[in-house]
Amino acid sequence: MFYASRNLGILDGLNPVARTRFAALLDRLDAAGENVLLTDGGRTAWRQNALYEQGRTRPGAIVTDARGDESFHVWKVAVDLVPVTPDGKLRYDDTAAYERIALIANGLGIQWGFALWGVDRPHFQYTQGLTIADFRAGRRLVEEFGPEPLPLIVSAAVRLRGLVRRLRGTPDPARRDFIQRLIDRISRRS
Ligand SMILES: [Zn+2]
Repeated sequence: MFYASRNLGILDGLNPVARTRFAALLDRLDAAGENVLLTDGGRTAWRQNALYEQGRTRPGAIVTDARGDESFHVWKVAVDLVPVTPDGKLRYDDTAAYERIALIANGLGIQWGFALWGVDRPHFQYTQGLTIADFRAGRRLVEEFGPEPLPLIVSAAVRLRGLVRRLRGTPDPARRDFIQRLIDRISRRS
């Protein structure tokens, strides 16, 4: 794949649960013949603030409305990416490619910035439904089981069994609450 080492470097800086999910996305994009370059991943709050100042107190175009920990990048569960043509050109303007990528991402539970906010095509995030407020309150992505993405590969019944097992071994009430909500969500769906 084009830019494999750069992409892997960005994956490395993500939350481990999100990293597994975005690695699966890269695999699927590769299999579908879609080349992408990850241009950004986890950020420090310091860097997010610097980006916020760009186009405001510093030169350049405005690229974000999020300051400090208001960005999912700072919680290390988001990446920015750009489609790449077979001859290596970056195609920020290729909306059709972004839509194809988003479809594959959605199948892995990854959300697309443009579908969420109507702006920010490069942005994709994996939050398990957590909000910034949830992250601030100390909630984190729940560990998933094995490297395979769950929603498509593992049946709901298998996933439920895994979550119930996880619930039994989790003393922290906030995590228990989140796992319980995942269980409820999957039970309703199946
Ligand atoms: Zn982004």
